[in-house]
Amino acid sequence: MLERTLIILKPDTVKRKLCGKIISIFEDAGFNIVETKMITPSRELVERHYPNNNKWYVAVGNKSISNFAEQGVDIVKVMGTDDALTIGKTIKGWLVDYMTSGPVMAMVLEGNNAIKNVRKMCGNTIPSIADPSTIRGRFSLDSSDVANAEHRPVHNLIHASGEIDEAKYEISLWFGSENA
Ligand code: ADP
Repeated sequence: MLERTLIILKPDTVKRKLCGKIISIFEDAGFNIVETKMITPSRELVERHYPNNNKWYVAVGNKSISNFAEQGVDIVKVMGTDDALTIGKTIKGWLVDYMTSGPVMAMVLEGNNAIKNVRKMCGNTIPSIADPSTIRGRFSLDSSDVANAEHRPVHNLIHASGEIDEAKYEISLWFGSENA
């Protein structure tokens, strides 16, 4: 099914001058770029972009909990707690700081099953466990224990919408008349 999805090349991608390489990967796969812009987003835009509910906070917190366990690092020593909700809320704060720290490139990609296929090409949220053939696995080795110890989210290069409703919401948030 022909779909549209939103990707954001995050500040680490722009700083590392990897936008061209990553865009080529999507173009080579057959996606069309239908919208694009380079902006330093406001805190409000990023706060609205990432969900503000306990389910999302707990999911993000649990990614740290399992990644710390895999690395054999005590999460309480680094984060001061092993409560997923508290950890998720802390990471959201870091994420807003990070995403507003410099320019990002937002883009709407169109193609067959774009939402699932783009997510597959991005790979796991945590680059150190992402498959090396994916964008996150190929261009980064970052992990939660390292990132959280430095009070930052993992630098994983790219955001991509997770499902149809999310894609619609995110495309109108970034490219609707309000932010055009
Ligand atoms: P994804 O971007 O893979 O959909 P999420 O929506 O769960 O992942 O998280 C949003 C962003 O927050 C991630 O891309 C990453 O930059 C950061 N993040 C999520 N979980 C963690 C974590 N446990 N440790 C550090 N950063 C995280």
